[in-house]
Amino acid sequence: MIPIKTDEEIELQRESSLLVGKTLAEVAKRIKPGVKTFELDRIAETFIRDHGALPGFKGYNGFPATLCISVNDEVVHGIPGDRELKDGDIVSIDCGTLMNGFYGDSAYTFAVGEVKREVLELLERTKESLYLGIEKAVAGNRVGDIGYAVQSYVESYGYSVVRDLVGHGVGRNLHEKPEVPNFGRRGTGPKLKKGMVIAIEPMINLGVKEVVQNRDGWTIRTADSKPSAHFEHDVAIRNGEPDILSSFEEIEKILNKK
Ligand code: MG
Ligand code: MG
Repeated sequence: MIPIKTDEEIELQRESSLLVGKTLAEVAKRIKPGVKTFELDRIAETFIRDHGALPGFKGYNGFPATLCISVNDEVVHGIPGDRELKDGDIVSIDCGTLMNGFYGDSAYTFAVGEVKREVLELLERTKESLYLGIEKAVAGNRVGDIGYAVQSYVESYGYSVVRDLVGHGVGRNLHEKPEVPNFGRRGTGPKLKKGMVIAIEPMINLGVKEVVQNRDGWTIRTADSKPSAHFEHDVAIRNGEPDILSSFEEIEKILNKK
């Protein structure tokens, strides 16, 4: 069964989702060459706890940190550590919070210093594909409509869509039904109904779609070592228009100031 939330529950979840965006904005202030990824993790954990919430990922299936920090060819699930960000890197930061009994889950990929144009375009187009997917996230459509919108857009640029990891329902649990692939055929998959909340999260590779896992048991990276981008929003399904619960607004305010 796919959980259906009341409007009141969705408002409670919105607070959690918005806190993720604020946390990522706080982290964005510190992203620069020389910063170690564990320092970013510490900032996020403190910020989340100071706002009366819990880090949503820490301890989840044994994950050791507040943020998933994935650099360059790392797609998702990178573990923060001693690694220093360098000029020209890209870094995907995925953050979860648990607040009001509901999870927020959102991710953004940042450029560190001067990044090659080809890679900046990958970031921009991956973010655009997220919004194209979100446009389809309305009652009466099907999950495959979202995946098709993402896939057809990014493949038109020669990028590839990761198949092994997908978006998901999100609510009282971090991962709920349905699975939300970033690929698919229109008119297929579960029907979207008012009150569902889903995390849409395209993971788009500059090169091949295949991924491999590091020996740490977590970090997923591209098989050809080319860069990968990742953006994620939580979206409530409504009649008519999608309702994005998370927000990049605070993040982009910080980026525009830089
Ligand atoms: Mg996430
Ligand atoms: Mg997610």
